[in-house]
Amino acid sequence: QGDPIPSVKFPNGTEVPALGLGTWAIGEDAGYAKMEIESLMAGIDLGMTLIDTAEMYGDGGAEEIVGQAIRGRRDEVFLVSKVYPWNASLKGTVEACEHSLERLGTDRIDLYLLHWRGNHPLAETVAAFEMLKASGKIGAWGVSNFDTDDMEELLRVPDGANVAANQVLYNLSRRGIEYDLLPWCQSRGIPIMAYSPMEQGHILHHPELIHIAKAYQATPAQLALAFLLERDGVIAIPKTSNAERVAENRDCVSLEITDEDWQALDAAFPPPAMKKPLEML
Ligand code: NDP
Repeated sequence: QGDPIPSVKFPNGTEVPALGLGTWAIGEDAGYAKMEIESLMAGIDLGMTLIDTAEMYGDGGAEEIVGQAIRGRRDEVFLVSKVYPWNASLKGTVEACEHSLERLGTDRIDLYLLHWRGNHPLAETVAAFEMLKASGKIGAWGVSNFDTDDMEELLRVPDGANVAANQVLYNLSRRGIEYDLLPWCQSRGIPIMAYSPMEQGHILHHPELIHIAKAYQATPAQLALAFLLERDGVIAIPKTSNAERVAENRDCVSLEITDEDWQALDAAFPPPAMKKPLEML
């Protein structure tokens, strides 16, 4: 099984592994379904029991794949799904959640996120989330792609302070949140879920990342993930539909990087020197 995966605590006390499983672009082609299900199952077996999905992914297809991967072992996993902003009205949020539950083949989603900000007032979406929580259909709710000012606005709406997480683009090549949003969330105990932790694979070809990883007999993917796990209150959700890569990603927890090499990484991927608007994919 390897070294234990560090855990991150949500405001309600629930602890989850800091390394989970992404599902963007799965469930789009039935020909890959078996591989996708097997990879998710391999991840759960290795302790990556947080699964991130959304009604958007594969137009519901990803949730169906997740449903198959967790069949018979629902209680081993922490399920995260997301509502489209245009569905996030009072009634629409509840309906979208019920459809997600059907596709996932379960009676509850552990963490339900607003995928990004849209036109429905935040107060309405939050009211719907609170109703879903009261009925037990979700365990907690959060947001995604919210910058610091959005978070501050959220805290001003009724029950907005119940936000459990913010899922944002965060990886070595996208460090903007370190300037303000990350410390803002850390100081309030609100975990950051780092999406596209390997910039969808693009940073894995970076020569300095490859060079430093080599010194540890590690892969660039492992180093990119170790960078995120080094930070308090950060959950990384890499996606792969390859069971061997799942195991490779899982093993990032064993890397012990020297201060000198963290500094070399900072030189190659500089932290922000000023506020940058939150980027999204
Ligand atoms: P990632 O940074 O996780 O990269 C995924 C890509 O990297 C895939 O092409 C995968 O290919 C490849 N890969 C994975 N592991 C390895 C490895 N060890 N070596 C080489 N290549 C590897 O990108 P995602 O955009 O998928 O982000 C992760 C998750 O975050 C998503 O799946 C989704 O759940 C969430 N997300 C949320 C967003 C939001 O707006 N809230 C936006 C974007 C993502 P292969 O599968 O072939 O291995």
